[in-house]
Amino acid sequence: MAFLDQHPGLGFPVAAGLGLLVGSFLNVVILRLPRKLDWQWRRDAREILEEPEIYDPPPPGIVVESSHCPHCKHKLAWFENIPLVSWLALRGKCRHCKTPISVQYPLVELLTALLVVASVWRFGFGWQGFGASLLSCFLVALSGIDLRTRLLPDQLTLPLMWLGLIASLENLYMVPKAAVLGAIAGYVSLWSVWWLFKQLTGKEGMGHGDFKLLAAIGAWVGLKGVLPTILLSSLVGAIIGSVWLAAKGRDRATPIPFGPYLAVAGWVVFFWGQDLIDAYLRFAGFR
Ligand SMILES: [Zn+2]
Repeated sequence: MAFLDQHPGLGFPVAAGLGLLVGSFLNVVILRLPRKLDWQWRRDAREILEEPEIYDPPPPGIVVESSHCPHCKHKLAWFENIPLVSWLALRGKCRHCKTPISVQYPLVELLTALLVVASVWRFGFGWQGFGASLLSCFLVALSGIDLRTRLLPDQLTLPLMWLGLIASLENLYMVPKAAVLGAIAGYVSLWSVWWLFKQLTGKEGMGHGDFKLLAAIGAWVGLKGVLPTILLSSLVGAIIGSVWLAAKGRDRATPIPFGPYLAVAGWVVFFWGQDLIDAYLRFAGFR
């Protein structure tokens, strides 16, 4: 770590390469975790409803099973599985059946690499940079899953919150009190909005995964960062949401996933929160 810190000419390419590899793993998580959860929920539901056991083969595991083309089931050789490079070399098509490969794969890989490089650039090649990379990876996976399935699995949001709290025990970014209060404020603030909205309209405007995601982000940005995260996510959500509606012409009742906005806002506040707050206070004339 210290060696890479002194040789950034070597450190940044290493970080980018690791980011591409991790991004390729995140692609698998984004695709397979919701399927695995769905399979478990169906099995549990049958058990609770006391329905007869049926044969339901489990979906592929996340870590062990190798990748294959979802269309022709052709198993990918190692050289078809190199992050980013393979997609470009194959021109986004399966080598066998020529079915287009989703652009999600290279995008997630590229995004993860950029975020990991940004993490070590902002926080250095040490525990702080490592923690920031970890946070970035969780947020990429959660955003991808929410965009695809409207789920924010507890299996990701809760560990992310614990990691933030544990990091604060070592005062990595803030003292434990700030992280704990941040997690509480994150959960309670969105829960209150959901509860009020439900009392007023009788509808559920948000999923519980959103509260847990903001609790997790709160553990990383601290109490001071929660309000900026909410404001920024609403702003980003309003802009992208209206562009989305205008482009796709969906009716307004269609729920739009809120998780990715929270993730983007949380990431920005974690990286540049204090700078943003200072800039705003100067702008508003308080300083
Ligand atoms: Zn194929």
